[in-house]
Amino acid sequence: MLATRLHGLGTTIFAEMSALATATGSINLGQGFPDSDGPAAVAAAAARAILEGRGNQYPPGPGIPELRHAVAGHQAAWYGLRFDPDTEVLITAGATEAIAAALLALVNPGDEVIAFEPYYDSYAACIAMAGGIRVPATLRPPTPEQPRWHPDLDILEASITDRTRVLLLNSPHNPTGMVLDEAELHRLADLAVRNDLVVITDEVYEHLVFEGSHIPIATLPGMRDRTVTISSSGKTFSFTGWKIGWVTAPTELVSAVRTAKQFLTYVSGGPFQYAVADALKLPRDYYADLRESLRARRDLLAAGLADIGFGVSATEGTYFITTDIRPLGEDDGLAFCRALPERCGVVAIPNAVFYDDKQAGAPFVRFTFCKKPEVLSEALDRLAVLVKPA
Ligand code: PMP
Ligand code: GLN
Repeated sequence: MLATRLHGLGTTIFAEMSALATATGSINLGQGFPDSDGPAAVAAAAARAILEGRGNQYPPGPGIPELRHAVAGHQAAWYGLRFDPDTEVLITAGATEAIAAALLALVNPGDEVIAFEPYYDSYAACIAMAGGIRVPATLRPPTPEQPRWHPDLDILEASITDRTRVLLLNSPHNPTGMVLDEAELHRLADLAVRNDLVVITDEVYEHLVFEGSHIPIATLPGMRDRTVTISSSGKTFSFTGWKIGWVTAPTELVSAVRTAKQFLTYVSGGPFQYAVADALKLPRDYYADLRESLRARRDLLAAGLADIGFGVSATEGTYFITTDIRPLGEDDGLAFCRALPERCGVVAIPNAVFYDDKQAGAPFVRFTFCKKPEVLSEALDRLAVLVKPA
């Protein structure tokens, strides 16, 4: 039945693993969603918008002006990037729709799209729907010399051909927690300029950076004009169900993305758009508190997993820890994750599903730490059954 271009996509791992968590009553450290909602004042703003009749009918196609101005204000205040709220900002149904619309708008059938592997699962699906060809640039696991997940930019450079159209970036990176550093970003920017590539950059975890700082690639020389920057309110404000995302880019690129977006959802989330416009005006303390609270939970989960015997790599950003299960005597992350609820009542995500090269991803398993500390502690108690006898 399924059209050939969607072959192999199946059910997303997030749906599969969250259903497994519910069915087995397990603690869900799989799908990345917080177990506490975002600020009450932001929730109240959404409720007020509904009751006052703001956004209950189709909002404007590009998004309500209040939110487009707030997004432009955020990019200017945090990064010094200036975008015209009327022509260079587009509101989308989460980052997911922004990614889909950007790829559908900018990739011709047969064009090659280079993306870091492991890649967030919707990238593969959307490249396929656009008729593009996915070219993975596999991230290297931590080594003693380079104790973080990191890109191999020589290999990435060698994979550029005259059919390469888009460089699809994600930093902070899901699932590895890598944050591209300044030197890596400069090299990527240089490759994009020299090869005349469009860069689509998924920065949904921009405010969840624990080591170093988040540098949008659009701020680098020559990049503003060729970059589609994508972000979303889900992670920053802990309302992942609202699905309010956005694109910032020069007019020509926004207009291309909007052309595709019109026929995906046209518009969405009217009242939530008003609430997110308010949320974007929260003081900087809000962002710092979120980051520090997640940093403490990262440290709790990382130390606990390491004590149990997992190989734990530094999470520089996002709310995920990628672990290596080989020290536990395991090497098949998919089988490990499918058995974990039965073995100890915890759900995690096998990184192999984010790889074309399943072998390369097999020993890695992702846990999220965007849960209450007591939930993480309970999960660690349960996972302790995995400790290998000495
Ligand atoms: N990109 C990445 C890297 C993600 O982890 C997620 C999940 N939040 C998304 C995009 C989707 O974001 P949204 O929920 O705003 O559609
Ligand atoms: N971004 C979330 C994660 O990586 C999941 C979002 C989704 O279920 N599509 O866990």
